[in-house]
Amino acid sequence: MSRKSFLGWPVLRQLRTGDTTGRGPAVTSARTESTEPRIATADSVARSVCPYCAVGCGQLVYTKDNKVIQVEGDPDSPISRGRLCPKGSASEQLGNSPNRVTEVLYRAPRARDWQRIDREKAIDMIVDRFLEARANWWEDRDEDGRPLRRTMGIASLGGATLDNEENYLIKKLFTAAGAIQIENQARI
Ligand code: SF4
Repeated sequence: MSRKSFLGWPVLRQLRTGDTTGRGPAVTSARTESTEPRIATADSVARSVCPYCAVGCGQLVYTKDNKVIQVEGDPDSPISRGRLCPKGSASEQLGNSPNRVTEVLYRAPRARDWQRIDREKAIDMIVDRFLEARANWWEDRDEDGRPLRRTMGIASLGGATLDNEENYLIKKLFTAAGAIQIENQARI
């Protein structure tokens, strides 16, 4: 068995490299030296906000070949100052997970299986149900004749992956339609 050279002793490595605290080149392995961050080859980086909860941590989204390759905390964010929780750190999977559902699925009443349906057909079905429920549960006036102009037949519960603009439009749409139960998961 070959013995390691005494020149490899930690204190000698520190003296040789000038790494007096022992936290730099004196303790860097060859494997660590050969690695580089995956963002090193990114084509571009964009600022964003984590979609998962109401904290709103700042994110840097790195892309390569028009694909998200890494999401990291934004040090310039006054909210999070570069930090992300484990969920926010994993938000690259939001776009790249092989389990991401990219087609419209419909399960008919009492059916056991889901079926793929055309997007236009799905939108028509939603609109039909929305209008029918709105009309069926419309309340124009209360028992004393005072105006209500509301419906109890529709409600909205948004998910935290909706962005500000989507939430703004949803609030506008449902309020204009007469709904009064409008909520978001991030507020619950
Ligand atoms: S990183 Fe975590 S704490 Fe920050 S917004 Fe996302 S889910 Fe919320």
